[in-house]
Amino acid sequence: MLTGSPGCGHYALALALAQYLQCTSPNGEDSCGVCPACHQAARYVHPDIHFVFPVAKTAKIKDEPSSDDFIAEWRQYLTGNPFPSLEGWYHAMGVENKQAGIFKKEAQDILRKLNFKSYQSDYKVIIFWMPEKMNTTAANKLLKIIEEPADHTLFLFVTCGTDDILPTILSRTQLIKVPKIETGPLLKKLAEDYPGKEDLILGVVQRCQGDYLVAQEMIEQSDQNVLNRDRFIRWMRISFGLQIMEITDWVGEVSEIGRERLKWFLQYALNMIRNNFLMNQGLAEIAIMDNEESAFSSKFNAFIHAGNIEDLMKEFDLAIAQITMNANAKILLTDMSLQIHRLLRMPAPGAKG
Ligand SMILES: [Zn+2]
Repeated sequence: MLTGSPGCGHYALALALAQYLQCTSPNGEDSCGVCPACHQAARYVHPDIHFVFPVAKTAKIKDEPSSDDFIAEWRQYLTGNPFPSLEGWYHAMGVENKQAGIFKKEAQDILRKLNFKSYQSDYKVIIFWMPEKMNTTAANKLLKIIEEPADHTLFLFVTCGTDDILPTILSRTQLIKVPKIETGPLLKKLAEDYPGKEDLILGVVQRCQGDYLVAQEMIEQSDQNVLNRDRFIRWMRISFGLQIMEITDWVGEVSEIGRERLKWFLQYALNMIRNNFLMNQGLAEIAIMDNEESAFSSKFNAFIHAGNIEDLMKEFDLAIAQITMNANAKILLTDMSLQIHRLLRMPAPGAKG
């Protein structure tokens, strides 16, 4: 039983061990990476490496599901990214809001698979991801085989926390705590996965606690921030100038980013408006912004003042609420652009004009 944080690499470690056991010419420390068995293992199609993971009913699978029903999706999901997360897997399975589990049928499948002679090699390996999602019925069916597996049968459990694992299962395993990923290998992997982002990666590696999934989240978040910043700056410029063609283009693009991302963007925009108001009021030091945001705001803040801040914030609050309730994004953003134009043109209280 390998335990560690979700992105500590313990799944990748289980895969590597399974491949090593199947490799026909291992070099003592690692698999060769080139023999047919290694190729099959690397593509997750080796006949003696079995995968178990939480699954849920879908429109396609209406009876009690088991991993075999989703093996194509699982292979696809792992390709290039052997760091599964429950959230990512739900998304790949297309079951956003359902509880996935490991059920009785899974246990039956495992017993059936272990009854066959192994196809090519001595070892049969079961890589069992998230045993904490296994229900009691399934667990009871597997107790005996986990306690006394046949020769050359290896259960590799991979878990993010042992608290929720049934004690009857846990007590039959040998617990190995997998440490966080060291800086060197993590830097190398991230540089491969995110070329051209070396500066960002250097910072992320310091803060991600040796967890690949945390690092990935930080990088993607930062990408979103850059996108949101550029969208916001462009929006304010073209709305202020009432550049109708540009506004139409911008609305066309931004209305396509998806409801969740649009909500984040509007939240970001609201925060920028608030920060500009703080700057306008001489409170720049409590407005947290990056260099590019500050550069834009050093001029823009003159247009966000006591005369329009309340109406502007109301516009954004209302828009976020309406997007949540499935309003038409194109109509909403077009209307907002006109309102923003009107509000930005309002004179500041006390200003000559
Ligand atoms: Zn090999």
